[in-house]
Amino acid sequence: MFSKVLIANRGEIAVRIIRACRELGLSTVAVYSEADRGSLHVRLADEAFCIGPAPARDSYLNIPSIISTAELLGVDAIHPGYGFLAENPHFAEVCRDCGISFIGPSPEAIQKMGNKSTAREMVRKAGVAIVPGSDGPVRDEAAAAGIARNLGYPLIIKAAGGGGGRGMRVVHNRDDLRRAMTEARAEAEAAFGNGEVYVEKYLEEPRHVEVQILADARGTVATLGERDCSVQRRHQKLIEESPSLGVGPKLRRALSRAAARVAEAAGYTNAGTVEFLVDHAERFYFVEMNTRIQVEHGVTEMVTGIDIVKEQIRIAAGERLAVPREMEPRGHAIECRVNAEDPARDFLPSPGTIVAFVPPGGPGIRVDTHVFAGYTVPPHYDSLIAKVIAWGQDREEAIARMQRALREFEIAGIQTTIPFHQDALENAFFRRGEVYVNFVQRRMDLTVLHV
Ligand code: ADP
Repeated sequence: MFSKVLIANRGEIAVRIIRACRELGLSTVAVYSEADRGSLHVRLADEAFCIGPAPARDSYLNIPSIISTAELLGVDAIHPGYGFLAENPHFAEVCRDCGISFIGPSPEAIQKMGNKSTAREMVRKAGVAIVPGSDGPVRDEAAAAGIARNLGYPLIIKAAGGGGGRGMRVVHNRDDLRRAMTEARAEAEAAFGNGEVYVEKYLEEPRHVEVQILADARGTVATLGERDCSVQRRHQKLIEESPSLGVGPKLRRALSRAAARVAEAAGYTNAGTVEFLVDHAERFYFVEMNTRIQVEHGVTEMVTGIDIVKEQIRIAAGERLAVPREMEPRGHAIECRVNAEDPARDFLPSPGTIVAFVPPGGPGIRVDTHVFAGYTVPPHYDSLIAKVIAWGQDREEAIARMQRALREFEIAGIQTTIPFHQDALENAFFRRGEVYVNFVQRRMDLTVLHV
């Protein structure tokens, strides 16, 4: 086992990782930017080191600074969290070259899945269905029009290097194609430094269902069931739950086997998530694999009892997987992402100082956060300030607990997405589990939020 772990991240996930390390008896090194001097992860870690100014490219993306800190302080492993360097194969390779364990998959596996267009090809060859679409990247409008003749509209243009819902455009007819191609490429180039795009059939009302996997260095793959992440705004997740109301034991088994096959085909190790879209006929299609811990991993932890972050560390240290190969969920868990954004003003970021902060508690409630009263949410990073996760014996109890928790939650000084969540949890379609990826757009009226 390792003795000292550096956490190359910030915010709630850095805190989450420090907690796992501490429970395993490992000492921790936090790194932070000048904007994060007063952060909770800095306070909780055994040692903390400033790695640069506020902009992420100068600090949390600054590989030389992070690696030299790791060498200086004699760490034997780095956990990258999510975002920042988590899915950067070059960073994973630098760690390997420096004799530091990267707590995640190999650079080769990250690379294979990092290009969503080539990942589709690999997955198809492994015998798992992908959303019908282009074979590889699409060069120009004419090539896209050719594919459209076969598939029909609507289509979705996606960035090969994409993530976080960016670089995607839905196209309803031939007239929209040129503009959508140009915009998607420009956005992809700006966001990911790679303007390559590909095309998929745009599925009507699918559910977003993803399978959490763990894989050890011996090639053993375990699946921890699914999460339903259909409540999204602009293709970004807001509420996640496990199990999915659209997934029974038979479909769960099929999804789990498909996810394991994808992991095996990629020679994957550590924690990962295989994402699928599931249509009304329960057909499922691979969309991408995320090669890191995800924001929403906590809902799986609540229904399986497995500490996924500790498993990540154990796997990276070469230990054999000690969890069952396939798991059925126990009870039901829901997560609401509390962002520093104003849902009544089109989710406008709302950084600033939090003057009062009283998180909820009680049976079945878990709050993962890095903020506290007096904390100033910096404008430089993503706006997630807390994750509230509710567990219940069934979905109804999980919802009731979540509603109770959100009512207790006091955050003053900034706007948050709590009013959005309260509205979503009241929604009749949500209550019935009729939740597809267009739920927010189709079933919610954001102009009447009671903020
Ligand atoms: P990202 O990597 O940016 O998260 P994904 O490929 O995972 O992108 O897709 C994010 C979301 O976009 C999905 O959960 C779904 O809501 C929507 N989406 C993506 N592809 C399709 C598709 N082919 N049909 C319908 N919706 C899609």
